[in-house]
Amino acid sequence: MKNYDALNSFQVLGANIQNILDAFGAFSVLAGKIMLDEKLGTQNADGTTLFDADKWYPLANNLRAIDRIQQEYGSIIIRQMSAALLRNAKFPPSVNNIESGLASVDVAYHINHAKNGVALFSPATGQMGEGIGHYTTKPVAGKKQILCEVNTPYSCVFDQGLLLAMAHRFQPTATLVHQNPTQCRNSGFPSCTYSVSWK
Ligand SMILES: [Zn+2]
Repeated sequence: MKNYDALNSFQVLGANIQNILDAFGAFSVLAGKIMLDEKLGTQNADGTTLFDADKWYPLANNLRAIDRIQQEYGSIIIRQMSAALLRNAKFPPSVNNIESGLASVDVAYHINHAKNGVALFSPATGQMGEGIGHYTTKPVAGKKQILCEVNTPYSCVFDQGLLLAMAHRFQPTATLVHQNPTQCRNSGFPSCTYSVSWK
């Protein structure tokens, strides 16, 4: 199990975790149990786990819960979770193609995370706080291709699911390939780079 103690002053928005959980459908009770075990959310009478959409929850606990879900249920479910997160997210009208879509992930990520209870991005001031990594996108000139470099504490498959879901919003043929797969956060590299391309 990875150690996330360095992230103890960071939080994630409840709406975010609830969206992840809702992706499980019939399995949400099982995933919810792991989250409750990691001291995230409260248990309803029917056994489901509930999050306060506007409340901040400890990021390290969320990351541990996702790691445990990945260990117990496999990486396919993790891809579904992060894809669901994207499906339920609302984006401004300026996000209208695959380039602006992938570029907007970093801001959305910082809006949905906080340090000491203060969101890491303020739409009012445009200021962004540091400490949880970034989604950096670089369109490849003359090609239907975008390189995405990611150094968040989320897992490689989680971020793959997230970026591919965003790409599919605008380009249903989009595919995602891990560049230099040996250079991966799974093997201790600081970042992963993905190539997103479409027809
Ligand atoms: Zn990776």
